[in-house]
Amino acid sequence: CDSDRMVELANCMEVCQTSIVPSQDVQDVQLARLPPIDKVDIAEVCIKPTSRAPIAEVQGQVKRMLEKRNLSYANGPLSIAQDGEPFLFEHVQSICICDADEQGSNGVLLFWQVNLKIYLYQLNDEGPGEETEETEGISSFQEWVLPAREFFGLWESLIYDTGLKKRLLQYSETALLFADKGVDSHLVSWNRVILLHGPPGTGKTSLCKALAQKLSIRFNGRYNQSQLIEVNAHSLFSKWFSESGKLVTKLFYKIQELIEEEDILVFVLIDEVESLAAARQTALAGSEPSDSIRVVNALLTQLDKLKSWKNVVVLTTSNITAAVDIAFVDRADIKAYIGLPNLQACYEILRSCLKELLRTGIISLPMHAGTKEVDFLSFKTLIHWSTDSEQPCAEEESEASFHLSRSLLATAQACQGLSGRTLRKLPFLAHATLANKLICDCSKFLLILADTAQRELSER
Ligand code: ADP
Repeated sequence: CDSDRMVELANCMEVCQTSIVPSQDVQDVQLARLPPIDKVDIAEVCIKPTSRAPIAEVQGQVKRMLEKRNLSYANGPLSIAQDGEPFLFEHVQSICICDADEQGSNGVLLFWQVNLKIYLYQLNDEGPGEETEETEGISSFQEWVLPAREFFGLWESLIYDTGLKKRLLQYSETALLFADKGVDSHLVSWNRVILLHGPPGTGKTSLCKALAQKLSIRFNGRYNQSQLIEVNAHSLFSKWFSESGKLVTKLFYKIQELIEEEDILVFVLIDEVESLAAARQTALAGSEPSDSIRVVNALLTQLDKLKSWKNVVVLTTSNITAAVDIAFVDRADIKAYIGLPNLQACYEILRSCLKELLRTGIISLPMHAGTKEVDFLSFKTLIHWSTDSEQPCAEEESEASFHLSRSLLATAQACQGLSGRTLRKLPFLAHATLANKLICDCSKFLLILADTAQRELSER
């Protein structure tokens, strides 16, 4: 990596480890005695599109803001106070703390215990560019400049239970680093092909896009630009194979053009790769085998050629694991099975849906007589409260939150077996059944959700 790039990277990404002077508060002093954790946390800072503020200034202000909140801060988005932080309020759209350790995170972190990396980025508003085959009107691929506004928040919205997102991110980061440092793949074997497989609607395509977006932010110190090329393998092979051949050639010509620019990071997303195997099988059974086999082989050869370029990551998905072309499976380094959401994921997906309906005033929470409103507890807190004999439900608001969350848990149980895609549609379907569309009470809505889920499951 040349020295200019290293300087660029260093400027863009700052590692700040503070040695803190404990405050007078006794609790603070006790906390300050906790040993530093060998852990890196990430703050992703999205700068407003209108802002022309110097990057270093924004970075400095973010660091100061986090230091000010030094006792603790939670994972997820941080609110920026208009009065307290006017500069950040003017220039920054969002600050998100991304805990590298997804599973162990119980919300609160201590600023001085962790290494913090700050990544700054601005979203691209251009939208997708589409390449269509003139003669047949077939859309061969779509391209996006990353980080794109369309994918903002996508990563956070996808909920899995097994630390899967963290593994994928770590894997991809290492693969890109190895490539960048020129590690010889004959000596240390690795590649940059990821295959996500599992039932439809489990978020595979979205996860690929979100991963590309994340990596474009994490590597913006190393690459000047990132692009995502999205190819639908099904559409590539659904038409006559003679057309497919042309499409494949055109597609890889485009990819080649991009990757030759060494400071562009290119993500190639190939959706529904099972179509490759299907195309080969149809070909073997059909009358004109040679054409389609040639196309499938051409695609695999082109994919192999991509390996020699260090600035490209290939992301693939398949709905039918068994049907993925074996030649293709061999090419993927990481193969992750993405299953239906478990109870915890169902609960959290529904919780995020309900929060959105509350935010927009479509449904309402029961207003408690006290000053605080009740809220849905996270799954972890709910389970903790449910199993802890000394329930911290002293306050009535907490008790109300606890009971409401228990109802949500019952609804989530009724939803087991549904895909993430159906779960995200469920609130809409449930609301559509309401005779009175005006504001609906949350507890009542949860019951309707459970009924709707049962209907969806029985209609399969
Ligand atoms: P697939 O490629 O597996 O068919 P998609 O990426 O098309 O799935 O998923 C469609 C939508 O379903 C996603 O954009 C997301 O809104 C929702 N979804 C699916 N799985 C999940 C999940 N685990 N957590 C949250 N949302 C999900």
